[in-house]
Amino acid sequence: MFNSLSDRLTATFKNLRGKGKLTEADIDATVREIRRALLDADVAVSVVREFTAHVKERALGAEVSEALNPGQQIVKIVNEELVSILGGQTRRINMAKTGPTIIMLAGLQGAGKTTLAGKLSHWLKKQGHTPMLVASDLQRPNAVTQLKVVGDRAGVPVYAPHPGVTSEFDTPTGDPVQVARDGVAEARAKLHDVVIVDTAGRLGVDAELMQQARNIRDAINPNEVLFVIDAMIGQDAVNTANAFNEGVDFTGVVLSKLDGDARGGAALSVASVTGKPIMFASTGENVTDFEQFHPDRMASRILDMGDVLSLIEQAEQTWDKAEADRMAKKFVDQEDFTFEDFLAQMQQIRKMGSMKKMLMMMPGAAQIRQQLENFDEKEIDRVEAIVRSMTPHERVAPKIINGSRRARIAKGSGVTVSEVNQLMERFAQAQKMMKKLASGNMAGMPGGMQM
Ligand code: GDP
Repeated sequence: MFNSLSDRLTATFKNLRGKGKLTEADIDATVREIRRALLDADVAVSVVREFTAHVKERALGAEVSEALNPGQQIVKIVNEELVSILGGQTRRINMAKTGPTIIMLAGLQGAGKTTLAGKLSHWLKKQGHTPMLVASDLQRPNAVTQLKVVGDRAGVPVYAPHPGVTSEFDTPTGDPVQVARDGVAEARAKLHDVVIVDTAGRLGVDAELMQQARNIRDAINPNEVLFVIDAMIGQDAVNTANAFNEGVDFTGVVLSKLDGDARGGAALSVASVTGKPIMFASTGENVTDFEQFHPDRMASRILDMGDVLSLIEQAEQTWDKAEADRMAKKFVDQEDFTFEDFLAQMQQIRKMGSMKKMLMMMPGAAQIRQQLENFDEKEIDRVEAIVRSMTPHERVAPKIINGSRRARIAKGSGVTVSEVNQLMERFAQAQKMMKKLASGNMAGMPGGMQM
């Protein structure tokens, strides 16, 4: 997510490290680098111009701070300006006071609307809402079937025009405006508290598409019109966003495919150019690859200050409180960390999803991005297989695991003895680290962002 932009910006700031005082030339050079990094990331020219002007003005006028060195001060300014172009405050869904909250999705074909419908409804459901989906995309042959699939996956009912459409080659006929209207009526009758209406997109912006979207909007009077935009489409993002803004006057933006490696900067311009907030981010093809968009957290991810809050939220959603309390107690009592604990922690991590994604949110992740990219999720499978091949006694008393036991464990888990040895070594280190932490001796721990 915004990897190269993040790398470029952090590299720029590194040059400022250790400088006692910044001259005007230092600031000019830094701002020039920031400008290049943003332009190379496809951020719209108008946004870059305004952004760098603000940064420069504020950097020149910055008071000498006792708490921050000049380099840190620039990072702080850039961070605040990034938050600002990303829309400032977190914007939550405008829920209807009475009746269902109606959310309409709009955007080009392939932007990720249908996928988003599944993700958003899954997310809402987890928060106790009772969403329903409406298939108003009658343009793309497979769209209705696809919505049913994502609805199934999310465990959410789907209102579709032709229950009989089973072949992906069937194009449902009918009037999308009527389908939207009927779908909302059905949601109301069945007391769903949120209804998400998927609409058709085209490969490019066209007048007919926009008129249809407008007709649907006027027929159902939505609380939110979410414009879904593929973060990988580059500079076109701004034109597309402008066209949809004029066409349907959307209320919020969803950035999709942020997991891609593309430059993504154009998506960063959308909030600034349209004046509409980014509300959600889509980060993969799975129903859980989705998050509420927080401008401040995204800025801090881009500047490699980590996004520990999002990490905590993800953890909270899956966290097993009893298990966490058990671990905390062990920790305080300075009891030995065993392979049983190790296994339990691995289960927790698995529930949180991809290890790589989680690590990427840690402060300083950009500096070890290459290693993280190479992280093999299967490694966790291998480690788990090894631990599962140990007897219960071995797991709580790893000291007894001698050479012949290691050979047996390797055989049982289908790995080499040297892999077992490596794990034993890492485990011993982790045990030591836990002891150190518990006794309050944090020296030697990896630090956060150092400037
Ligand atoms: P729609 O035409 O706007 O409804 O777009 P779809 O929801 O059908 O998505 C188009 C393609 O993009 C599909 O293959 C999706 O699986 C894929 N897709 C959607 N969202 C994401 C995302 O956040 N990340 C990735 N990698 N792929 C996505």
